[in-house]
Amino acid sequence: MVQPKANIVHLPVYQPGKPIEEVKRELGLKEIIKLASNENPYGCSPLVREAILGQLEQTHIYPDGGAVELTQAVSEHLDVSKNQIIFGAGSDEVILMIARAFLVKGDETIMASHTFPQYKHNVEIEGGVCIEVPLAEGTHDLQGMLERVNEKTKIIWICNPNNPTGTMVSQQELKRFLEQVPDRVLVVLDEAYIEYTATEDNSNSLKLLREHDNVVLLRTFSKIYGLASLRIGFGIGHPDVIHSINQVREPFNTTRYAQAAAMAAIKDQAFITRCREENAKGIDYLTGEFERLGLSAYPAYGNFIMVNVHRPAKSVFEGLLGRGIIVRGGHQLDFPTSIRVTVGTPEQNSKFIQALEEVLNEVQIAATEING
Ligand SMILES: *Cc1c(COP(=O)(O)O)cnc(C)c1O
Repeated sequence: MVQPKANIVHLPVYQPGKPIEEVKRELGLKEIIKLASNENPYGCSPLVREAILGQLEQTHIYPDGGAVELTQAVSEHLDVSKNQIIFGAGSDEVILMIARAFLVKGDETIMASHTFPQYKHNVEIEGGVCIEVPLAEGTHDLQGMLERVNEKTKIIWICNPNNPTGTMVSQQELKRFLEQVPDRVLVVLDEAYIEYTATEDNSNSLKLLREHDNVVLLRTFSKIYGLASLRIGFGIGHPDVIHSINQVREPFNTTRYAQAAAMAAIKDQAFITRCREENAKGIDYLTGEFERLGLSAYPAYGNFIMVNVHRPAKSVFEGLLGRGIIVRGGHQLDFPTSIRVTVGTPEQNSKFIQALEEVLNEVQIAATEING
Protein backbone atom coordinates (compact mmCIF):
# COMPACT_ATOMS: atom_id res chain seq x y z
CA MET A 1 0.00 0.00 0.00
CA VAL A 2 0.98 3.61 -0.50
CA GLN A 3 2.22 5.01 2.81
CA PRO A 4 0.92 8.38 4.06
CA LYS A 5 3.37 10.75 5.72
CA ALA A 6 4.40 9.42 9.11
CA ASN A 7 3.15 12.38 11.12
CA ILE A 8 -0.50 11.83 10.16
CA VAL A 9 -0.92 8.09 10.76
CA HIS A 10 -1.99 8.56 14.39
CA LEU A 11 -4.52 11.34 13.68
CA PRO A 12 -8.18 10.50 14.31
CA VAL A 13 -10.73 11.23 11.60
CA TYR A 14 -13.04 13.98 12.89
CA GLN A 15 -16.21 12.46 14.40
CA PRO A 16 -19.13 14.78 13.77
CA GLY A 17 -22.10 14.77 16.15
CA LYS A 18 -25.08 12.67 15.13
CA PRO A 19 -27.40 14.39 12.66
CA ILE A 20 -30.56 15.70 14.35
CA GLU A 21 -32.78 13.59 12.04
CA GLU A 22 -31.01 10.39 13.05
CA VAL A 23 -31.34 11.14 16.76
CA LYS A 24 -35.06 11.83 16.27
CA ARG A 25 -35.61 8.53 14.47
CA GLU A 26 -33.57 6.44 16.90
CA LEU A 27 -35.21 7.84 20.02
CA GLY A 28 -38.68 8.33 18.55
CA LEU A 29 -38.63 11.99 19.59
CA LYS A 30 -40.39 14.83 17.78
CA GLU A 31 -38.26 17.65 19.05
CA ILE A 32 -34.50 17.80 19.40
CA ILE A 33 -32.69 20.71 21.03
CA LYS A 34 -29.07 20.92 19.89
CA LEU A 35 -26.88 22.80 22.33
CA ALA A 36 -23.65 21.10 21.29
CA SER A 37 -21.85 23.22 18.71
CA ASN A 38 -22.16 26.82 19.92
CA GLU A 39 -24.36 27.80 17.00
CA ASN A 40 -26.52 30.91 17.22
CA PRO A 41 -30.01 29.83 18.39
CA TYR A 42 -31.47 32.92 16.70
CA GLY A 43 -30.12 31.96 13.28
CA CYS A 44 -28.69 34.82 11.27
CA SER A 45 -29.74 38.28 10.10
CA PRO A 46 -32.79 38.24 7.79
CA LEU A 47 -30.67 40.22 5.28
CA VAL A 48 -28.61 37.08 4.65
CA ARG A 49 -31.36 35.18 2.86
CA GLU A 50 -31.79 37.89 0.21
CA ALA A 51 -28.04 38.16 -0.24
CA ILE A 52 -27.72 34.43 -0.93
CA LEU A 53 -30.72 34.39 -3.29
CA GLY A 54 -29.13 37.27 -5.17
CA GLN A 55 -26.18 35.04 -6.06
CA LEU A 56 -28.11 32.01 -7.33
CA GLU A 57 -27.98 33.02 -10.99
CA GLN A 58 -24.19 33.27 -10.75
CA THR A 59 -23.71 29.72 -9.48
CA HIS A 60 -21.66 28.68 -12.51
CA ILE A 61 -19.24 31.62 -12.12
CA TYR A 62 -16.23 31.27 -9.79
CA PRO A 63 -16.34 33.48 -6.71
CA ASP A 64 -13.99 36.43 -6.30
CA GLY A 65 -10.95 34.62 -4.91
CA GLY A 66 -9.68 37.75 -3.20
CA ALA A 67 -13.09 38.53 -1.64
CA VAL A 68 -12.55 42.20 -2.49
CA GLU A 69 -15.94 43.58 -1.47
CA LEU A 70 -16.09 41.62 1.76
CA THR A 71 -12.54 42.66 2.61
CA GLN A 72 -13.65 46.29 2.16
CA ALA A 73 -16.68 45.75 4.42
CA VAL A 74 -14.66 44.09 7.20
CA SER A 75 -11.90 46.67 6.89
CA GLU A 76 -14.43 49.47 7.46
CA HIS A 77 -16.24 47.65 10.24
CA LEU A 78 -13.08 46.92 12.27
CA ASP A 79 -11.01 49.89 11.13
CA VAL A 80 -8.07 47.86 9.86
CA SER A 81 -6.38 48.03 6.44
CA LYS A 82 -7.52 45.79 3.63
CA ASN A 83 -4.09 44.17 3.39
CA GLN A 84 -4.42 43.07 7.02
CA ILE A 85 -7.31 40.68 6.32
CA ILE A 86 -7.47 37.15 4.93
CA PHE A 87 -10.57 34.95 4.54
CA GLY A 88 -10.85 31.22 4.93
CA ALA A 89 -13.50 28.53 4.65
CA GLY A 90 -14.21 29.07 8.31
CA SER A 91 -11.48 30.19 10.68
CA ASP A 92 -10.64 26.47 10.71
CA GLU A 93 -9.09 26.99 7.29
CA VAL A 94 -7.18 30.05 8.48
CA ILE A 95 -5.67 27.86 11.23
CA LEU A 96 -4.71 25.32 8.57
CA MET A 97 -3.14 28.01 6.37
CA ILE A 98 -1.16 29.48 9.28
CA ALA A 99 0.28 26.05 10.09
CA ARG A 100 1.02 25.46 6.43
CA ALA A 101 2.69 28.84 5.91
CA PHE A 102 4.82 28.98 9.05
CA LEU A 103 5.67 25.50 10.31
CA VAL A 104 8.32 23.04 9.24
CA LYS A 105 9.17 19.72 10.88
CA GLY A 106 10.44 20.15 14.42
CA ASP A 107 9.08 23.66 14.98
CA GLU A 108 7.49 24.03 18.38
CA THR A 109 4.13 25.59 19.09
CA ILE A 110 2.65 26.29 22.50
CA MET A 111 -1.02 25.97 23.41
CA ALA A 112 -3.24 25.29 26.40
CA SER A 113 -3.79 21.68 27.46
CA HIS A 114 -7.56 21.98 26.91
CA THR A 115 -8.37 24.19 23.98
CA PHE A 116 -9.67 24.16 20.42
CA PRO A 117 -8.42 20.90 18.86
CA GLN A 118 -7.69 22.28 15.38
CA TYR A 119 -4.42 23.92 16.48
CA LYS A 120 -2.85 20.62 17.47
CA HIS A 121 -4.35 18.80 14.49
CA ASN A 122 -2.83 21.17 11.94
CA VAL A 123 0.50 21.53 13.75
CA GLU A 124 0.95 17.75 13.72
CA ILE A 125 0.11 17.50 10.03
CA GLU A 126 3.03 19.86 9.35
CA GLY A 127 5.34 17.82 11.60
CA GLY A 128 5.40 20.51 14.28
CA VAL A 129 5.56 19.80 17.99
CA CYS A 130 2.81 20.81 20.44
CA ILE A 131 3.79 21.96 23.92
CA GLU A 132 0.59 21.82 25.95
CA VAL A 133 0.51 23.98 29.06
CA PRO A 134 -2.08 23.00 31.70
CA LEU A 135 -4.96 25.43 32.22
CA ALA A 136 -5.06 27.18 35.58
CA GLU A 137 -8.65 27.17 36.92
CA GLY A 138 -9.84 26.58 33.37
CA THR A 139 -7.96 29.64 32.10
CA HIS A 140 -4.85 29.99 29.93
CA ASP A 141 -1.72 30.11 32.09
CA LEU A 142 0.10 32.81 30.14
CA GLN A 143 3.08 32.84 32.51
CA GLY A 144 3.42 29.07 32.14
CA MET A 145 3.23 29.44 28.38
CA LEU A 146 5.94 32.13 28.38
CA GLU A 147 8.23 29.85 30.34
CA ARG A 148 8.05 27.27 27.55
CA VAL A 149 9.23 29.67 24.85
CA ASN A 150 12.64 28.72 23.43
CA GLU A 151 14.57 29.16 20.18
CA LYS A 152 12.44 26.49 18.47
CA THR A 153 9.11 28.18 19.30
CA LYS A 154 7.27 29.37 16.19
CA ILE A 155 3.62 29.85 17.18
CA ILE A 156 1.67 30.37 20.42
CA TRP A 157 -2.07 29.65 20.17
CA ILE A 158 -4.43 31.44 22.55
CA CYS A 159 -8.15 30.85 22.40
CA ASN A 160 -9.95 33.80 24.01
CA PRO A 161 -12.64 33.10 25.20
CA ASN A 162 -11.33 29.54 25.44
CA ASN A 163 -13.25 26.67 23.90
CA PRO A 164 -14.23 24.42 25.72
CA THR A 165 -13.96 26.15 29.13
CA GLY A 166 -15.45 29.54 28.16
CA THR A 167 -12.92 31.46 30.25
CA MET A 168 -11.01 34.57 29.22
CA VAL A 169 -7.62 36.06 29.93
CA SER A 170 -7.80 39.76 30.73
CA GLN A 171 -6.54 42.36 28.29
CA GLN A 172 -4.05 43.49 30.92
CA GLU A 173 -2.55 40.00 31.16
CA LEU A 174 -2.50 39.66 27.41
CA LYS A 175 -0.74 43.00 27.04
CA ARG A 176 1.95 42.04 29.54
CA PHE A 177 2.32 38.65 27.88
CA LEU A 178 2.79 40.09 24.40
CA GLU A 179 5.43 42.48 25.69
CA GLN A 180 7.50 39.46 26.73
CA VAL A 181 7.03 37.20 23.69
CA PRO A 182 9.92 37.54 21.21
CA ASP A 183 8.62 39.07 17.98
CA ARG A 184 9.91 36.14 15.91
CA VAL A 185 7.11 34.08 17.52
CA LEU A 186 3.64 34.33 15.98
CA VAL A 187 0.85 34.71 18.54
CA VAL A 188 -2.52 33.52 17.22
CA LEU A 189 -5.42 34.94 19.21
CA ASP A 190 -8.51 32.94 18.30
CA GLU A 191 -11.48 35.19 19.02
CA ALA A 192 -14.31 33.07 17.61
CA TYR A 193 -16.61 34.24 20.46
CA ILE A 194 -15.28 37.76 21.02
CA GLU A 195 -18.49 39.46 19.83
CA TYR A 196 -20.29 37.89 22.79
CA THR A 197 -18.11 39.70 25.32
CA ALA A 198 -18.83 43.27 26.41
CA THR A 199 -18.35 45.70 23.52
CA GLU A 200 -15.58 47.66 25.22
CA ASP A 201 -13.56 44.43 25.63
CA ASN A 202 -13.96 43.10 22.15
CA SER A 203 -12.06 45.87 20.39
CA ASN A 204 -9.05 45.74 22.72
CA SER A 205 -7.23 43.06 20.77
CA LEU A 206 -7.31 45.33 17.72
CA LYS A 207 -5.25 47.78 19.76
CA LEU A 208 -2.79 45.03 20.71
CA LEU A 209 -2.48 44.23 17.03
CA ARG A 210 -1.31 47.78 16.33
CA GLU A 211 1.43 47.42 18.93
CA HIS A 212 2.61 43.92 17.95
CA ASP A 213 3.39 42.85 14.38
CA ASN A 214 3.52 39.19 15.43
CA VAL A 215 -0.16 38.92 16.45
CA VAL A 216 -2.85 37.37 14.26
CA LEU A 217 -6.50 37.54 15.32
CA LEU A 218 -8.95 34.90 14.17
CA ARG A 219 -12.60 35.83 13.78
CA THR A 220 -15.51 33.91 12.31
CA PHE A 221 -18.98 34.33 10.85
CA SER A 222 -19.96 30.90 12.24
CA LYS A 223 -20.83 31.87 15.79
CA ILE A 224 -22.66 35.12 16.64
CA TYR A 225 -23.18 35.91 12.93
CA GLY A 226 -24.96 32.56 12.52
CA LEU A 227 -23.39 31.47 9.20
CA ALA A 228 -21.77 28.20 10.34
CA SER A 229 -22.93 26.17 7.35
CA LEU A 230 -21.48 28.63 4.84
CA ARG A 231 -17.90 28.25 6.13
CA ILE A 232 -16.42 31.70 6.35
CA GLY A 233 -13.98 33.21 8.83
CA PHE A 234 -10.95 35.47 8.70
CA GLY A 235 -7.57 36.39 10.08
CA ILE A 236 -6.34 39.91 10.84
CA GLY A 237 -2.65 40.68 11.16
CA HIS A 238 0.35 42.61 9.94
CA PRO A 239 0.30 42.92 6.10
CA ASP A 240 3.49 40.82 5.81
CA VAL A 241 2.03 38.00 7.94
CA ILE A 242 -1.22 38.11 5.97
CA HIS A 243 0.77 38.06 2.73
CA SER A 244 2.54 34.86 3.82
CA ILE A 245 -0.78 33.21 4.66
CA ASN A 246 -2.18 34.37 1.31
CA GLN A 247 0.66 32.59 -0.48
CA VAL A 248 -0.64 29.18 0.66
CA ARG A 249 -4.34 29.99 0.20
CA GLU A 250 -6.29 28.04 -2.44
CA PRO A 251 -7.43 30.38 -5.24
CA PHE A 252 -11.20 30.13 -4.57
CA ASN A 253 -11.36 29.09 -0.93
CA THR A 254 -14.58 30.91 0.00
CA THR A 255 -17.83 30.67 -1.96
CA ARG A 256 -19.79 33.54 -3.46
CA TYR A 257 -22.73 32.64 -1.17
CA ALA A 258 -20.54 32.87 1.90
CA GLN A 259 -19.03 36.17 0.80
CA ALA A 260 -22.43 37.72 0.01
CA ALA A 261 -23.94 36.40 3.23
CA ALA A 262 -21.07 37.70 5.34
CA MET A 263 -21.36 41.10 3.72
CA ALA A 264 -25.07 41.27 4.57
CA ALA A 265 -24.51 39.91 8.07
CA ILE A 266 -21.86 42.47 8.98
CA LYS A 267 -24.21 45.31 7.96
CA ASP A 268 -26.85 44.17 10.45
CA GLN A 269 -25.13 45.07 13.71
CA ALA A 270 -28.52 45.55 15.37
CA PHE A 271 -29.02 41.78 15.06
CA ILE A 272 -25.59 41.14 16.60
CA THR A 273 -26.31 43.46 19.53
CA ARG A 274 -29.62 41.70 20.16
CA CYS A 275 -27.93 38.28 20.09
CA ARG A 276 -25.23 39.47 22.50
CA GLU A 277 -27.88 40.77 24.92
CA GLU A 278 -30.02 37.64 24.74
CA ASN A 279 -26.93 35.50 25.25
CA ALA A 280 -25.96 37.48 28.36
CA LYS A 281 -29.45 36.89 29.81
CA GLY A 282 -29.12 33.20 28.97
CA ILE A 283 -25.76 33.01 30.76
CA ASP A 284 -27.27 34.67 33.83
CA TYR A 285 -30.23 32.30 33.82
CA LEU A 286 -28.14 29.13 33.37
CA THR A 287 -25.53 30.24 35.91
CA GLY A 288 -28.27 30.89 38.46
CA GLU A 289 -29.86 27.52 37.81
CA PHE A 290 -26.54 25.68 38.09
CA GLU A 291 -26.02 27.36 41.44
CA ARG A 292 -29.48 26.29 42.59
CA LEU A 293 -28.64 22.71 41.54
CA GLY A 294 -25.35 22.81 43.44
CA LEU A 295 -23.20 22.66 40.31
CA SER A 296 -20.08 24.70 39.67
CA ALA A 297 -19.41 26.31 36.32
CA TYR A 298 -16.47 28.17 34.86
CA PRO A 299 -17.11 31.87 34.27
CA ALA A 300 -18.54 31.98 30.73
CA TYR A 301 -17.59 34.71 28.27
CA GLY A 302 -18.77 33.10 25.03
CA ASN A 303 -22.14 31.53 24.18
CA PHE A 304 -21.52 28.28 26.07
CA ILE A 305 -20.86 27.13 29.61
CA MET A 306 -18.67 24.33 30.94
CA VAL A 307 -20.41 23.06 34.04
CA ASN A 308 -19.25 20.40 36.46
CA VAL A 309 -22.20 18.08 37.00
CA HIS A 310 -20.26 16.00 39.58
CA ARG A 311 -21.37 12.86 37.79
CA PRO A 312 -19.86 10.82 34.96
CA ALA A 313 -20.18 13.06 31.92
CA LYS A 314 -21.13 10.21 29.59
CA SER A 315 -24.12 9.21 31.73
CA VAL A 316 -25.35 12.79 31.97
CA PHE A 317 -24.81 13.27 28.23
CA GLU A 318 -26.81 10.12 27.48
CA GLY A 319 -29.55 11.01 29.95
CA LEU A 320 -29.98 14.38 28.24
CA LEU A 321 -29.86 12.80 24.78
CA GLY A 322 -32.68 10.45 25.77
CA ARG A 323 -34.72 13.57 26.56
CA GLY A 324 -33.94 15.09 23.16
CA ILE A 325 -31.19 17.45 24.26
CA ILE A 326 -27.73 17.25 22.68
CA VAL A 327 -24.81 18.81 24.59
CA ARG A 328 -21.05 18.15 24.46
CA GLY A 329 -20.08 15.51 26.99
CA GLY A 330 -16.90 16.28 28.91
CA HIS A 331 -15.85 12.62 28.56
CA GLN A 332 -14.79 13.52 25.01
CA LEU A 333 -12.99 16.67 26.13
CA ASP A 334 -10.97 15.30 29.05
CA PHE A 335 -13.40 16.81 31.59
CA PRO A 336 -14.82 13.56 32.98
CA THR A 337 -17.55 15.07 35.17
CA SER A 338 -18.51 18.13 33.12
CA ILE A 339 -20.67 18.99 30.15
CA ARG A 340 -20.38 21.93 27.78
CA VAL A 341 -23.72 23.45 26.88
CA THR A 342 -24.45 26.14 24.33
CA VAL A 343 -26.71 28.97 25.49
CA GLY A 344 -30.02 28.54 23.67
CA THR A 345 -33.23 30.55 23.49
CA PRO A 346 -35.02 31.09 26.84
CA GLU A 347 -37.36 28.20 25.98
CA GLN A 348 -34.50 25.86 25.07
CA ASN A 349 -32.60 26.85 28.20
CA SER A 350 -35.47 26.09 30.51
CA LYS A 351 -36.17 22.75 28.81
CA PHE A 352 -32.50 21.92 29.17
CA ILE A 353 -32.53 22.77 32.90
CA GLN A 354 -35.68 20.72 33.46
CA ALA A 355 -34.12 17.70 31.72
CA LEU A 356 -30.80 18.21 33.54
CA GLU A 357 -32.56 18.23 36.88
CA GLU A 358 -34.21 14.89 36.06
CA VAL A 359 -30.92 13.40 34.89
CA LEU A 360 -29.07 14.61 38.01
CA ASN A 361 -31.59 12.77 40.14
CA GLU A 362 -31.07 9.57 38.14
CA VAL A 363 -27.30 9.48 37.83
CA GLN A 364 -25.12 8.70 40.85
CA ILE A 365 -22.59 11.30 41.96
CA ALA A 366 -19.14 10.28 40.76
CA ALA A 367 -17.00 8.68 43.46
CA THR A 368 -13.92 10.55 42.38
CA GLU A 369 -14.09 13.96 40.89
CA ILE A 370 -11.12 14.61 38.76
CA ASN A 371 -11.70 18.18 37.71
CA GLY A 372 -12.91 20.81 40.14
C1 LIG B 1 -16.09 27.37 16.20
C2 LIG B 1 -14.68 27.74 16.42
C3 LIG B 1 -13.81 28.05 15.37
C4 LIG B 1 -14.03 27.75 13.94
O1 LIG B 1 -15.11 28.15 13.38
P1 LIG B 1 -15.27 28.18 11.81
O2 LIG B 1 -16.64 27.67 11.62
O3 LIG B 1 -14.23 27.28 11.18
O4 LIG B 1 -15.05 29.59 11.45
C5 LIG B 1 -12.52 28.48 15.65
N1 LIG B 1 -12.12 28.58 16.91
C6 LIG B 1 -12.91 28.28 17.93
C7 LIG B 1 -12.38 28.44 19.29
C8 LIG B 1 -14.21 27.85 17.72
O5 LIG B 1 -14.96 27.51 18.78
